[in-house]
Amino acid sequence: MGCLFCEIINGKIPCYKVYEDADVFAFLDINPTMPGHTLVLPKKHCSGLLDVDVETLSKIMTAAQKITAAIQKALGSSGFNIIQNNGVPAGQVIEHLHFHIIPRNESDGLKHWPGKPYSGDMAADIANKIQQKLEIGNW
Ligand code: 5GP
Ligand code: ZN
Repeated sequence: MGCLFCEIINGKIPCYKVYEDADVFAFLDINPTMPGHTLVLPKKHCSGLLDVDVETLSKIMTAAQKITAAIQKALGSSGFNIIQNNGVPAGQVIEHLHFHIIPRNESDGLKHWPGKPYSGDMAADIANKIQQKLEIGNW
């Protein structure tokens, strides 16, 4: 099956482009959470954060920083969220890695996800497990 975002990058499907360089492409989300909601992605297809090479990832984030600064200046927004939905349980719909830049303002009414405190030894256990996986370098 074809990739919708590859088709947008190749110009086969129209978009409101805001940025392009040799490796990175960015355009307005068709269904914005806030006006100026922008998607930043690699031109090279990869499905998510765990299968992108670090050089490309670095280029995406460098471009995202530049694009975010331009959004703030253009729209006068005073904050922003950068979100990357990864995998179906996390709400990823398009399987081509992309970062959402969502401009934010003081009274925009958007709420953050609720938190739920750890109980007992749970935090220590989880931190240990993650550290072990990082130490043996098997990710
Ligand atoms: P995900 O849920 O995969 O993180 O986000 C996919 C995003 O792509 C959604 O916010 C959705 O509105 C946006 N989107 C889906 N189809 C199109 C399209 O054809 N054009 C544009 N510009 N955005 C799209
Ligand atoms: Zn793609």
